[in-house]
Amino acid sequence: MDLLDCRLRIHSRGKTTRSLYFEAGKTLGGLAYGFRESNWDWYLEYAYHHWFTNDSEILRLIRELELTDKLIIKRPITASLYKGKPYQLDSPMNLFAFPGLSMIDKFRTAALLAFLKITPFGNRLKIPQLNTC
Ligand SMILES: Cc1cc2nc3c(=O)[nH]c(=O)nc-3n(C[C@H](O)[C@H](O)[C@H](O)COP(=O)(O)OP(=O)(O)OC[C@H]3O[C@@H](n4cnc5c(N)ncnc54)[C@H](O)[C@@H]3O)c2cc1C
Repeated sequence: MDLLDCRLRIHSRGKTTRSLYFEAGKTLGGLAYGFRESNWDWYLEYAYHHWFTNDSEILRLIRELELTDKLIIKRPITASLYKGKPYQLDSPMNLFAFPGLSMIDKFRTAALLAFLKITPFGNRLKIPQLNTC
């Protein structure tokens, strides 16, 4: 993904810009590499990734690539396996129904999640990224 972003930045600096890429693997794309069987319409990511719908950077990149109309956003079920059974753990109701935490731990988890959702200092919690382009 970072390579794709770098390529776009370099390309947008001018049509005459030439760049050379070295790739140790068999395909370009690193962990974002997609593969496709001959009878498939779409590519499947080699390594499973998710991103959040408020990830403004990936949305900006998709817009820049003029792929917004191809973007499909669906709400996946996020479940955790506990004592051999899957439990959906992606809403306050599901958290309180989960048998694997004591009531006090459920309240602590809920309080932390609520803090993370409403804190105006979310950017300070991010790990700074190096700009390599
Ligand atoms: C288990 C896991 C889960 C993740 N889940 C998510 C997720 O859900 N959502 C998300 O946004 N991000 C996720 N990430 C992070 C995301 O995959 C990386 O941030 C992203 O792949 C970084 O892209 P990159 O192009 O910098 O590096 P990479 O994708 O690692 O690509 C590096 C490329 O450089 C090549 N290379 C390495 N050394 C050399 C060399 N010496 N010479 C030439 N080529 C070389 C490699 O072969 C590879 O193709 C996850 C990462 C991991 C490991």
